[in-house]
Amino acid sequence: MRIVLDPGHGGTDRANRGPTGYVEADGVLDIGLRLKKLLIDDGYTVLMTRDKDETVELYQRSEWANQRQGQLFISLHTNAAADSTANGIETFHSYNGEWGSIFREEAKRVAEIIQRRLVQATGFRDRGIKTRLVSNNASAINNMDYYAVIRRSRMPALITEMGFHTNPNEEALLKTAGFRQKLADAIAAGVREAYPLIKSLTPIMGNSVASLQQAKAWLKQRAPEYQQLADIYYSVAPAYGIRADIALCQACKETGYFRYGGLVKSWQNNYAGIGATGEASDGNTPLNGADPSKVRFQQGIHGAIFVNPAVGVEAHIQHLYAYATTNLLPVGKMLYSPRFTLVKRGSAAYVEHLGAADNPEGVGWAYPGNGYGADIVNNYLVSLMAAKAEVGSGSINIEAREVKLNIHGRADTIEGFKLEGRNYVPVRFLEAFGYEIAWDEANEIVEIEYRRNTN
Ligand SMILES: [Zn+2]
Repeated sequence: MRIVLDPGHGGTDRANRGPTGYVEADGVLDIGLRLKKLLIDDGYTVLMTRDKDETVELYQRSEWANQRQGQLFISLHTNAAADSTANGIETFHSYNGEWGSIFREEAKRVAEIIQRRLVQATGFRDRGIKTRLVSNNASAINNMDYYAVIRRSRMPALITEMGFHTNPNEEALLKTAGFRQKLADAIAAGVREAYPLIKSLTPIMGNSVASLQQAKAWLKQRAPEYQQLADIYYSVAPAYGIRADIALCQACKETGYFRYGGLVKSWQNNYAGIGATGEASDGNTPLNGADPSKVRFQQGIHGAIFVNPAVGVEAHIQHLYAYATTNLLPVGKMLYSPRFTLVKRGSAAYVEHLGAADNPEGVGWAYPGNGYGADIVNNYLVSLMAAKAEVGSGSINIEAREVKLNIHGRADTIEGFKLEGRNYVPVRFLEAFGYEIAWDEANEIVEIEYRRNTN
């Protein structure tokens, strides 16, 4: 989980002060540094837009955070008002920014958590979570988020206003290190609640923890044009007993969310850098038993080339399978990974062991690979598992289930599904109970008639 901390102001911007000497730029920097330490000790990746007293332009803060692919932006501020009795804590969050409204729900979720934690820790007045939009018909950013760091960050973004430095009581507290530590502790607790890190080892095999709908919602924020790849991962992985959510996270790491900054290019359908050794192929790279009608190497090209995305995904799953287990390929599966036979089978049952440096046997997917697997877990999987599935936007959360029936004293179990709290069953099952099912084409009516004499 990559968290961007943005202490407001600083450098030439040091004008915001309390009546007895508190300087907002210094106070929020101190809170940011305390928070950074807490989060790093926990295992989060923390990026700071500034970690000393310096001038950082407003637009630069978000641009920098976007370039580094931050996953949560927290801008740290204390509040000011002309009325010295104004007091309390409030948190602004993404609503409608330059990337549309895709971060709205997630930002709101995290804002609620952090706001609650800050209020609990301080006992300050709860001014609530808020949004602020530009209201000016003449403006190109009319109806968009007013605050630049929120509007321009390509991630859920918050501005925490941690009390009023213009209020003498709150300023007095903000001037103490103990109180600033309390604020940092509260935000850290909020981050832990919003994005719980995985401390134990993460098995590669098993059922996905994140659902397909979560995966699509998650990709929508990061690589919207690749959402359909989630369908492929989630349809291919179960046959191998591999967690689709983990494989998808690894693909996102290997390809930079399919932006392909490295040697392998998007047209190769190679989502995990299979066969990319750092040297381009001479055209004679061995396929090691992989299906030559589906997989090839080409002179001058780095890594394997797969005929289509489905084959590319399956090769990736197979390669993970090679590391995760000593089992043979599932019956009926063709080999697509040209490196399958080169893997020390079963040498990495856990994601965290995919980097050779972290692997008890000293082998792995990545060399030297320090932190390779932990990065997949903490900087990808944690946010995927926290993603909120969208309801009713093309992806439907269908839960298949057995439905028990009793009709005219005859019991049976048929396969139906549950959707948004309701049970659905196909009408065809009624035929077994002596009903006749007909479809009235002209009127689009299903006709169901009971024939008593049928057994
Ligand atoms: Zn401020």
